Amino acid sequence: MDLKLKGKTALITGASGGIGSAIAEGLAAEGVHTCLNYNSNDKEVLRLKDKFTGMGLKSEVFKANVSQEEEVRNLVDFTIEKLGHIDILINNAGISYHKKFLDMDMSDWDTVIDINLKSYFMVSQLCARHMADRGERGKIINNSSMVEAIARPNLTTYCVSKGGIGALARSLAVELAPYNIQVNNVNPGIIETKILGDKLEKEPEFKQHLIDLIPMGRLGQADECADLFVFLASQRANYITGASYYIDGGVTIAQL
Ligand code: NAP
Repeated sequence: MDLKLKGKTALITGASGGIGSAIAEGLAAEGVHTCLNYNSNDKEVLRLKDKFTGMGLKSEVFKANVSQEEEVRNLVDFTIEKLGHIDILINNAGISYHKKFLDMDMSDWDTVIDINLKSYFMVSQLCARHMADRGERGKIINNSSMVEAIARPNLTTYCVSKGGIGALARSLAVELAPYNIQVNNVNPGIIETKILGDKLEKEPEFKQHLIDLIPMGRLGQADECADLFVFLASQRANYITGASYYIDGGVTIAQL
């Protein structure tokens, strides 16, 4: 199936991580020009940029902490300047944060909400203004989580941030539909990336505990998530907006 993505342009936040990097690879494989955002680790985005330019695509790299308004503004301006315009925004950057609710202070709240939720609001607003001014179809796809629907212990701020992303996507889907901008969420389950920390390798019993939660009996892989982002970004998904799609081996329904 031709996804009709060739020549489109995409900004991907957190493209230096497991799922973000896989989404960038998936979009590039369909002929999409990319701006790859990172915050602390440039190794993977530079590798991707080399690979994509070698495929004849435009690819740019930009360091920005997406929790900072000024840096977000610079990121979006840079992307428009280098790629000409933005057809697709992938909000993907995020952190996990384990702490007991009773031990938290407000700086814990601010850290997670700013990176995981406020950033999605800020990047979406700047990109949506650009898309609306341009008058062409736009796509915004958020990386949320299975915790949009379920709770996990010691992850309060993470769960709140991901629930907020769901509400944000639904609100924007309604408000931006007249501008031909679609907004959707992908909700991964437990995916084998560095966000899960080194416990996965160091503690086999922890890994087994996670696997036991998943009806399909295995952790997910970043490229399996990426395929769904690519489909939602494509012209084959033009009637989908305000939706949240779970890609989780069944873990969410098993926890409900
Ligand atoms: P990851 O490998 O740790 O990637 C996280 C990415 O976010 C990295 O590229 C990181 O950039 C970037 N990032 C973090 N803070 C940032 C900031 N302040 N500004 C800009 N970029 C920032 O983990 P991942 O699993 O691929 O996570 C990607 C997304 O998937 C996250 O939103 C996460 O919540 C979501 N998710 C993951 C899972 C899972 O099980 N893995 C499940 C559900 C949802 P640097 O490395 O350059 O700092």
